[in-house]
This record gives sequence, structure tokens and C-alpha cells, in this order.
Amino acid sequence: MGKVYEIAVLPGDGIGPEVVGAAEKVLDAVQKTSGGFSLKCVHGEAGYSCISKYGTNLPAETLEMLKRTDACLKGPLTTPEEPGSPISAAVNIRRTFDLYANVRPCKSLPNVYSLKPNIDLVIVRENTEGFYFAREFEITPGEGIAIRTITRKACERITRFALKLAMKRRKHLTYIHKANILKLTDGIFKKAVLDVAQEYPEVSVDEQRVDAMAMQLVKRPEAFDVAVTTNMFGDILSDAAAQTVGGLGFAAGANIGDTYGMFEPVHGSAPKYAGKDKVNPIATILAAGMMLNYLGEAEAADTVEQAVRRVLEKGKTRTYDLGGSAKTSEMAQAIVEEILREKD
Ligand code: NAD
Repeated sequence: MGKVYEIAVLPGDGIGPEVVGAAEKVLDAVQKTSGGFSLKCVHGEAGYSCISKYGTNLPAETLEMLKRTDACLKGPLTTPEEPGSPISAAVNIRRTFDLYANVRPCKSLPNVYSLKPNIDLVIVRENTEGFYFAREFEITPGEGIAIRTITRKACERITRFALKLAMKRRKHLTYIHKANILKLTDGIFKKAVLDVAQEYPEVSVDEQRVDAMAMQLVKRPEAFDVAVTTNMFGDILSDAAAQTVGGLGFAAGANIGDTYGMFEPVHGSAPKYAGKDKVNPIATILAAGMMLNYLGEAEAADTVEQAVRRVLEKGKTRTYDLGGSAKTSEMAQAIVEEILREKD
């Protein structure tokens, strides 16, 4: 029977249950064909719908459940915006498990609009500091300060993560900064990257300033392999990069730490489509594939990606964002059939 992995599944809000349900069908299929492992999925509650019931978007039972599992597949969660509402559950999970690497692959897919036909890059964003975990202060009304924290320790570990990833890919790392303006903080980042890169002499390392990188992503996205950067630059650039290969319906992300990983579609809960069986589940299915890779099941991860590519190549099953009328469930079924066909 092989290895058994325990997976926390958080279907989330809005379209979450539909896209996560689709990904679970694909995971069921790939377990059958791969044979070497099995997944024990345990479902938990998180998100907006929990607030009225538990007074929080991340109940203590869910957090305890996550701690017992090997990884988490998370659907999109509606972020509460009312004053005094709890912080985003996703941010809470990232903090609790110190998921310091936010990993966003962008790869051209067949029959999906792509700026260039051969884009294959990964943005690795530092996930624990920068502007996101510091404070803003009001000095006087109309005058405020935001503090951006950058530490050598966090820069070193995100660089090491990105370099290890580059070693498994085309051995090219681009580090992105704005050290000409943020001389001290991005100076710390730059120095950490260059020092840690000495440990990986096989990886060719180059740099881009963040403004130049925004332009390069549009001009020649195919030139990049792994790109590493600080939190806010990574947040902005990874959304831009996602659009170069088809946008939200295809963008998957991982949040990885030393002992845990959480995998999610990049898109939100799209409330207007909730319950309509309409949206594209591929982003969540690719996130589930990333989870298999994280668990060490690279072959199964590849099976999922290849099945997605074959369905898109055939071009018969297309959800509304691809100009078609296929349902979420039909897209999932087409991918499942490709996986099962491969076994026959
Ligand atoms: P959204 O990503 O939910 O939807 C914006 C639009 O993108 C949708 O109306 C739809 O046209 C399209 N879209 C999204 N997912 C799609 C899919 N799978 N297939 C096809 N089209 C798709 O963004 P929003 O409307 O700004 O946010 C809704 C809620 O989700 C907010 O509460 C927001 O805070 C939250 N959110 C959560 C996450 C997360 O949990 N990771 C990420 C982003 C936004």
C-alpha cells in the first residue's frame, strides 16, 4: 500500500468547495494509478462562514487538525473586511506554521492565452516579514509611517530555498530588489543572496531591480527560471507573472516551511459564481499537484500536470474563462479520465 499521508482539506468559502472537491477527485484518481501511496483526507472548517458560528475564521479545532497532518489543501477564503474582524485565516496559518516560502509557478499551458509560448518560471516570495508583519503608525493626522522589517536570517533561508529549487530546474536564479532606494533593508537582502549563492556554484545568479523586473516579465518572461524576492515585491510580481500564462483560473500557490506546507489556488472565493458549477478548477488541481511534489510524490505530481495539459491540448473541455461552457465538475472529470486512461 505504500506511504500514507494525512491531508487537511479546508474547502473554504464561495467557490471553494467546488474547486477543492474537483481537486480531491483528481487526487483520488492519481492515488489509484500511482499505487505507491495513499492520502487520508480530513476535512476542516475555515473562512468567513465560520465567524458567525465560532467567532473566528480559524477555529481552534481546525488548527489542531492541521498540526496532526502532513500538509494542507486550502480553498479560497473570503476575507472579512468589517472593522474589528479577525485577521485573514490564511495569514494566521502561515504565521502559526512559519510557512516562509511562498512559491508561485507560472508555466505556459496548451491552448491557454500566454504572452509567450515557452514561459516556465517560479517566483519565490519571502512570506514572513517585509511590510506584512510589521506596524503602521500615525504620526499626526494625515501623516503615517509603515515599517518594513528585513532580517538576514529570513533572507538567507528564502535564498537557500530558492537555490535548492533552481538546482532541480534550469539552475538560474534572479534576485529582485530595490537596493538603490532601500539601501539598508534591500542591502541586507542582496548581501544574504550573494553569500548563500556561494554554496551553490552551479546556479547562475543575476539581479533585477523590481521596476525593471516588472518590465522584463512583460517583455521576456521566458528568460527567467527561479526568481526570489522580498514579501511585497513578490506579492505584486507573482500576480503579474500569473497573468502572463492565463490568469487566475490557472494560478496555483504553495506556502512552505521546514515542517509543513499549505497549497491553494491564488484566486479568491468569487462569491458571484458560488454553487454554479462554473469556474475553472485547474488552479486548485495544480495546487494539489504541488502538494504531491512537496510530499515527495514527484511522479504523481507529474501525472496530474500532464493530465491537465492533455485536456487543454484536446481543447474539448473548456470552462467559461477559456471561452467554453464546460462545468467545474466536467473539467475535473476530463482530467480524472486522462489520469485513468494513462494507467490502461
Ligand atoms: P476573486 O479571485 O474571488 O474573483 C475575481 C474574479 O476572478 C471572479 O469574479 C471571476 O471572474 C474570476 N475568477 C476567480 N477564480 C476563478 C476561477 N477559478 N475560474 C474562473 N474565473 C475565476 O477575487 P475577489 O472577488 O476580489 O475576492 C473575493 C473574496 O476572496 C474576497 O473576500 C477576497 O478577500 C478573497 N480572496 C481570498 C484569497 C485566498 O483565500 N487565497 C485570495 C484572493 C481573494
